Amino acid sequence: MFQTNKHRIALISVSGDPAVEIGQEEAGGQNVYVRQVGYALAEMGWQVDMFTRRISPDQAAIVQHSPNCRTIRLTAGPVEFIGRDHIFGYLPEFVDELQRFQERQGYTYELIHTNYWLSSWVGMELKKRQKLVQVHTYHSLGAIKYKTIADIPAIATKRLEVEKTCLETVDRVVATSPQEREHMETLVSQQGQIDMIPCGTDINNFGDIEKSVAREKLGIAPDAKMVFYVGRFDPRKGIETLVRAVAQSSLRGEANLQLVIGGGSRPGQSDGIERDRIAGIVDELGLNDCTTFAGRLDHEILPYYYAAADVCVVPSHYEPFGLVAIEAMASNTPVVASDVGGLQFTVVPEVTGLLAPPQDEVAFAKAIDRILSNPTWRDELGAAARQRVETTFSWDGVASQLSKLYTHLLTQSTPATVKKEAVAA
Ligand code: UDP
Repeated sequence: MFQTNKHRIALISVSGDPAVEIGQEEAGGQNVYVRQVGYALAEMGWQVDMFTRRISPDQAAIVQHSPNCRTIRLTAGPVEFIGRDHIFGYLPEFVDELQRFQERQGYTYELIHTNYWLSSWVGMELKKRQKLVQVHTYHSLGAIKYKTIADIPAIATKRLEVEKTCLETVDRVVATSPQEREHMETLVSQQGQIDMIPCGTDINNFGDIEKSVAREKLGIAPDAKMVFYVGRFDPRKGIETLVRAVAQSSLRGEANLQLVIGGGSRPGQSDGIERDRIAGIVDELGLNDCTTFAGRLDHEILPYYYAAADVCVVPSHYEPFGLVAIEAMASNTPVVASDVGGLQFTVVPEVTGLLAPPQDEVAFAKAIDRILSNPTWRDELGAAARQRVETTFSWDGVASQLSKLYTHLLTQSTPATVKKEAVAA
């Protein structure tokens, strides 16, 4: 449906380029969210510019995705990859560049939707210079993250301070699950305007491939019991728990148990180091014969993996939302996930999959075994999972909720006389 609202809006994602390949270091759910929301909003008639930081001279400064939707890469600091914990010092340059870009174009954005705390700072600074409405999605909260890691980075204090100011001052914060909302209210601040709008998935991209067809394409035996993980190689993703659970599975030793681990990695980088560590554990536990590292899975092939799997496992230590869970569910595949964060919202235990305490390999092994040993129940869980995604997590539904929110906020921020004109028009 094409509406006539042609407002220019900016989605800001300093640290997650929406036009980049997904599945490698620091490129994951946030990039997918911004890109899909951008596309869907553009389809609805918004003029969407998505801003990110340029990390390589080979990257185009502007990528036009569709007539109303483009990614714009601004130069802020050295044009190279810089980890999220080290970008803050370059943000003032990002704000200046964004302002210059608007001046060159001869317009300003009436509404910006910022993503992750770094972009929230950019938005709040820009708001000091021009009138705009700011909507923010955290994607990850420092207050939670720092509970789950041993090495607290030097930037932690600044991040916590910015996240609090953001919650208390921006026009609207979007929580992607009721759990995230509760965490904001209890751990960040009780002051703040929060709406709950979940993440989504492209329901047409998943769910119409038969298991047998997928397996034939991937060379996986029809009688294999396939356990699947896909995501970034990061210790917080809990891949170690999954590997140890498979080693404890009662089905271990049966020729047809298969563990497939998907996700990109680069030798020597943090994801490559984690991949090597996981491969070491696989080796140590004697799982080499039944484990495959599938590498980065692009959007063409990924639906086949989800369709081929008997169970998809999301063993994260913490997960603010977890797109992989709903992608698997959209593919009629039940999910065994950690009983944390957004996974408590997406996965309904005993209905669309099972939840297990994070880092508890025994509980994960039991949950995986329950599903693998009962194909009828596996299919029932899979069908209910698909249904849940169709009703609650389609990008179009998500974007339409965001679109309503933007329209509401823009109408509120517009002076009464202009509002009347808009109504008359
Ligand atoms: N992904 C992918 N190919 C890969 C690994 C990951 O397309 O090889 C995608 C995955 O399908 C999902 C996103 O990366 O859309 C990961 O998002 P999620 O929210 O699960 O985790 P995050 O990376 O944000 O921690």
